[in-house]
Amino acid sequence: MSSSHIATRAQFELRDEQRAIGALAAEIAQREIAPHVARWDREHYFPRELYGKLTGAGIMGMLVPEAYGGVGADYVSYALAIEELARVDAGTAVTVSVHSMICSAIAKIGSAEQKQRWLPRLASEDTIAGFALTESDAGSDAAALRASARRSTNGYVLNGRKQWCTSGSHAAVVMGMFRTGGAGARGVSAFLVEPDRPGITVEKITEKLGIHTSNTCDLAFDDVEVGGDALLGDEGAGFGNAMTALTAGRIGIAAQSIGILTACLDESVKFARERSAFGKPIGAFEGVSFKVAQMAMDLDAARLLTYRAAALADAGEAFGIAASKAKLFASTAARKHAAEALQIHGGYGYTTEFAAERHYRDAKITEIYEGTSEIQQLIIARSLLGRLD
Ligand SMILES: Cc1cc2nc3c(=O)[nH]c(=O)nc-3n(C[C@H](O)[C@H](O)[C@H](O)COP(=O)(O)OP(=O)(O)OC[C@H]3O[C@@H](n4cnc5c(N)ncnc54)[C@H](O)[C@@H]3O)c2cc1C
Repeated sequence: MSSSHIATRAQFELRDEQRAIGALAAEIAQREIAPHVARWDREHYFPRELYGKLTGAGIMGMLVPEAYGGVGADYVSYALAIEELARVDAGTAVTVSVHSMICSAIAKIGSAEQKQRWLPRLASEDTIAGFALTESDAGSDAAALRASARRSTNGYVLNGRKQWCTSGSHAAVVMGMFRTGGAGARGVSAFLVEPDRPGITVEKITEKLGIHTSNTCDLAFDDVEVGGDALLGDEGAGFGNAMTALTAGRIGIAAQSIGILTACLDESVKFARERSAFGKPIGAFEGVSFKVAQMAMDLDAARLLTYRAAALADAGEAFGIAASKAKLFASTAARKHAAEALQIHGGYGYTTEFAAERHYRDAKITEIYEGTSEIQQLIIARSLLGRLD
């Protein structure tokens, strides 16, 4: 990493333990992911065996309180770790990010029994968690979801179909949102469900543009019986709880975008120094060097926005708008500069010999999941204008 990036981080006066978590994630990513990621990407391979190593290092338990066997890290540390993972592999980064979002949600709103049951496993037993909100007709308009939870003698019966659940094939538990009451957001409740329960069919999405090392699945629920203890938080509070989880999740996606952007910058600088045309390194041409300058500036800005959102969350202050700004800015910059990084690599960038084409494919999703860029703009605008419609 260049010294300018370290200087940016230093402005937040990172504590030693925060730096240590980032450094640990960087070290694991270099050792366990970097040598394999090009092949994993090509083969659309979900490296299940990697998660035992990440668990052993404490990465999967970052947001689990120490009382439950986790690291009890803060959001700044979490952002640094996700960034370092994404710098090497964006697919691994989103798997860890979604998992951490569920750990955090259980720690905040879970019952004592749910915390005792799930948090130690999610922190230290090589167990992955997923999030199931989206449906075919309920994406940005998540409150339109139709999957239902009907009360039964022993608890609830779940029916419906969830779409694009990250880690769906490998998750031991998903936080799923189902309709328990009337229409709209107030009729939604959250449940902790094991995808291997009778009545659940998991169907893997095999072809995606990017993040091939992440697992994305549809989950069909046919008369799935769960106990009353599967309800996470209060009945009817599920939509609010899902939005709270997603707000924190946006710090993770902003950090994922920063990781991609950092890789694009590092690789662009290297290539622009090494590749010559017209008798000089291409970095000597303004057309190339100005792209690198803009990339570095946007990376700094994305980091500052993201660490600010994380620091606000750590301070217990409102951080929703800051998280939306961070996610919107960082994801836009990642998508834009991944294209520029590929351009700097010329024809080589279009081949799989260099990672630029993978970053280009991976970057796009950051503008879509956990709230599209348009939804982030709506959130930011409404915070200024109120609801005018
Ligand atoms: C690889 C991948 C992994 C995912 N992982 C998960 C997961 O783990 N769990 C989960 O629950 N979901 C997941 N998703 C779903 C993801 O969060 C949704 O795709 C996303 O929220 C957008 O919803 P949609 O696709 O239905 O698009 P739509 O909501 O149909 O939007 C289509 C377009 O319309 C725009 N639009 C919609 N409403 C407005 C508006 N009011 N104003 C302006 N523009 C608007 C959108 O911004 C977008 O450009 C994943 C998706 C993918 C592709």
